[in-house]
Amino acid sequence: MGQEELVYTSMPCSKETKVQDRNSTDESPIGTISTLKLHYQVAMPQPTNHLLEVTFRVTGWNQDALDVKMPVWTPGSYLVREYSRHLQNFEAKTGSGERLAFQKLAKNHWRIQTQGESAVVISYKVYANELTVRTNHLDRTHGYFNGAATFFYIPGYQTQSIIVTIVPPSPDWQVATVLPAIAENTYLARDFDTLVDSPFEVGLQTQLNFEVLGKHHQWVIWGKGNVNPERLIADTQKIIKAEAEMFGGLPYDRYLFILHLTKGYGGLEHKDCCSLIYDRNGFRKQKDYESFLQLVAHEFFHLWNVKRIRPKALEIFDYDQENYTPSLWFCEGVTSYYDNLFPLRAGIYGAKTYLRCLSQEITRYLTTLGRLVQPLSESGFDAWIKLYRPDSNTPNSQMSYYLKGAMVTLLLDLEIRKRHHNQKSFDDVMRIMWERFGKDEVGFTPQDAKSIIESVAGADLTDFFDRYLHGLDELDFAAYLQEFGLQLESNAGQGLALTWGARVVSEQNRTIVKSVAFNSPAQLAGLDAGDELVAIDGLRATVDEVNDRLQMAQVGDGIEVTFFHQDELQTAQVILAEPQPTQFKIVPVKSPTERQASFFTGWLGESLADLQ
Ligand SMILES: [Zn+2]
Repeated sequence: MGQEELVYTSMPCSKETKVQDRNSTDESPIGTISTLKLHYQVAMPQPTNHLLEVTFRVTGWNQDALDVKMPVWTPGSYLVREYSRHLQNFEAKTGSGERLAFQKLAKNHWRIQTQGESAVVISYKVYANELTVRTNHLDRTHGYFNGAATFFYIPGYQTQSIIVTIVPPSPDWQVATVLPAIAENTYLARDFDTLVDSPFEVGLQTQLNFEVLGKHHQWVIWGKGNVNPERLIADTQKIIKAEAEMFGGLPYDRYLFILHLTKGYGGLEHKDCCSLIYDRNGFRKQKDYESFLQLVAHEFFHLWNVKRIRPKALEIFDYDQENYTPSLWFCEGVTSYYDNLFPLRAGIYGAKTYLRCLSQEITRYLTTLGRLVQPLSESGFDAWIKLYRPDSNTPNSQMSYYLKGAMVTLLLDLEIRKRHHNQKSFDDVMRIMWERFGKDEVGFTPQDAKSIIESVAGADLTDFFDRYLHGLDELDFAAYLQEFGLQLESNAGQGLALTWGARVVSEQNRTIVKSVAFNSPAQLAGLDAGDELVAIDGLRATVDEVNDRLQMAQVGDGIEVTFFHQDELQTAQVILAEPQPTQFKIVPVKSPTERQASFFTGWLGESLADLQ
């Protein structure tokens, strides 16, 4: 994998030159047509059939053919999703209703023979029955849809403005989108990127309006749940203020949070809004609510980091294919580091809670074998084929660029703070990235990011980057935490069960192997993910029985495992190995020095003594 060797040339580039570049290098080098008007209408007359009925009216066209394409992916979610697979009933007509011939040139590409007609009306339906933040969903209570999964672009004309009219099926359905309204249920997107970046939530919804720093904000909530509206608004305001303070203001006119209350978890960032999915009953228990606020802090932070501060490869989106970059660790890892930190800075929770969350992440990192296989920069580069396609080998072979990216950002933040006695921090890196790249939306190269981190640290970090971003060295948490009066404890030696390397769960009264660790006793004995455990040493193998058996055994003991492997009953001897720690916890050092105590306070704003 290329990582940093994949050098992108860093060319200063204004918004204007970007626009010209796109029009001059795209496949239809035609220039602009000043009279061209693009108007979409989205209706959903029968929501229970899950079909969005879309009409795309193009007027002022002046060529014999009109090409339209549907994106294959949406920014923020780095997987080719083939959105056009949900499209059906494609038709093209003249302005007066006569049919126009068309042909499909590719999975997502249609060409219409316009025969000199300047008005073309394309109609099609989009099946919308996948409830995630990056897909479309329509049922009897709402319609949620994303631009990339719903609308065509005309190659070469992505900078043209687009009008969208929504036709709700019932007068009590409301329309929420961050696009400005120009008439009732009619909105204006200044270009195709903006349309893609502005999802629509149409339906029965709760709207909560509030102000922060003089700007209008809104929660639009679909679904039932145990949200406390006053508390939600108050905590959101605190997070917004804390993040705005770091970057020096809010770079938008208004901001919209779309929240789907159902089962599940997810978020997708946009420039002036975000979409979230959260457990409908996840707002009362403190830990669940804290993790919801971390999700809010995360998606909100993205309005700077990744929506405006973008890697070069994402400066201009290519909606037709993968957009490879080794810098997703910066987009997602840095954001993940800050999503734990901002609720602390906002006063929502204290250092104890922060360190508990950080300890959980360190535990996840140190118990994932893929950290020894997949370098961080490669993890981001390969997001397109790996992160969103987990399989039974994932724990053995992959390391999330979210998780390791956050861990590496932690170490970088601590390194900068240590070198400058907390007078500088990773916040300074983000502010420089914002000034230099974010404000004008100029893409940054991996080398740009490294140089800026080094300039803030005041050190050459080539070795750090080689070891931790491009290499597979173990992160030295102990050395970094120690400077801040903290150390990492594990539960090693606390009566842990022996290791056999298989994770088992109970499914419909059957005991199923979910994953098998690389080179573990279970793998050596022939167990595989998907196998059904039947017995251990002749006794029925429930999950509890397995755990008890491992707890009681001695290192080197053999256990006889009977299991179904692809419907074949098999028996194998598993020789158990030394226990491995399963939990890591950040705790204060015994007698912190003044310097350690002061470093800690400079980082987390509280006294180290209060942690005791
Ligand atoms: Zn993210």
